[in-house]
Amino acid sequence: MKKLFAAFLSLAVSLPLAAQVTAIKAGKMVDPKSRSVLSNQIILVEDGKIKSVGTNIAIPDNATVVDLSHYTVLPGLIDCHTHVLLQPEDEGAVPPVITKSQAFRTVQAVAAAKKDLEAGFTTMRDVDSEGAGFADVAVRDGINKGIIPGPRLLVSTYALTITGGHMNLSGMNPDLNLPDPAAITNTREEMVNEVRREVKYGADWIKLYATGTLRHVNPLTLESLSQVSVEDIQAVVNEAKRWGKDVAAHAYGGDGAKNSIIGGVRSIEHGMLMDDATIQLLVKHGTYWCPTLSVYFPHDQTELNDFRKRIIQSHKEVFQKAMKAGVKIAFGTDVGAFEHGAGAQEFLRMVEYGMKPIDAIRSATVTASELLRMEHQLGTVEAGKLADIIAVEGDPVTDINALTKVAFVMKEGTIHKNFTK
Ligand SMILES: [Zn+2]
Repeated sequence: MKKLFAAFLSLAVSLPLAAQVTAIKAGKMVDPKSRSVLSNQIILVEDGKIKSVGTNIAIPDNATVVDLSHYTVLPGLIDCHTHVLLQPEDEGAVPPVITKSQAFRTVQAVAAAKKDLEAGFTTMRDVDSEGAGFADVAVRDGINKGIIPGPRLLVSTYALTITGGHMNLSGMNPDLNLPDPAAITNTREEMVNEVRREVKYGADWIKLYATGTLRHVNPLTLESLSQVSVEDIQAVVNEAKRWGKDVAAHAYGGDGAKNSIIGGVRSIEHGMLMDDATIQLLVKHGTYWCPTLSVYFPHDQTELNDFRKRIIQSHKEVFQKAMKAGVKIAFGTDVGAFEHGAGAQEFLRMVEYGMKPIDAIRSATVTASELLRMEHQLGTVEAGKLADIIAVEGDPVTDINALTKVAFVMKEGTIHKNFTK
């Protein structure tokens, strides 16, 4: 009997099963590529991919129908600057590398990833585990294996920095041996070695601190601390390239930003103190810029001092100049420094600063997919691409606030949220 059952089982698995098809009825659908909104689209999803999309599509009898005819459908959103291992409470005076175990931070990251996915972000480039080592690789792999829900993560493990630079603990007792949140690489050789180590243990991207952080900015001149030379950047970029990886440079402005662009990084992060010549360099080299506007607005209004106001004002001006100059602006939030799941606040800030809502959506879909070199899989709802599809109530092209209330999330054909009525 057992034998017979086993034979039946092997027969059953060898027979081709009828493919499970999901048919989505989209009342409206944003196409960021053509900057248009289409009506009454049918999207057929099979094997995690979009099989076909259009108005005259026959829905197969066996299909599971998802009725989004009262909603606006968009491609899954892409956040190009996140920290899944970071939580808002970690932004205090004592960094989490001192106060929390890596295990606890990973538990928090599991919850964070779910929140970000449910907010509509189906892909995130996670730029620095902020002292949680290779835990980002573990979270990414757990998501990819279907153990936990979360966005598709592209992780960068440790960021490269220098002694005394960004993410090198300051104000600590020099007699104590404390763990460093970033990788201290003071020579070009050390930088190259660190790239190899990170790739070996699972990094998808290399993150480098090309300038210091706010505490390194001269309060009078707003000059930022440059941490790297052009030659340093070239060494890192070339080594990353050997392994098929790209480099993202945290750079506020000044020589750190210029050296990074000339040296060949793929994206500049933050860049709020870039001058006009640097904006031109971005255009000339085709370097992407990930502005992360909203994270510099402090939660606690008492922190909104004169210095912070000047930083925010400069960020706004650079954003407006970059937009005009035709810089490739890729959507990024720095989520983790503020509540996970709240990444859409960046859209509101971009629109407030003069970007059209459709272009803000484009930056988080088409442009972001190009930055990640995944434009053939992500960024639009098109046949052949991965079925990353979200839906919102209302029309985000006329009211960007709609993106803060995501009602439906599908990632690679699996529905992770369906709050539709
Ligand atoms: Zn960041």
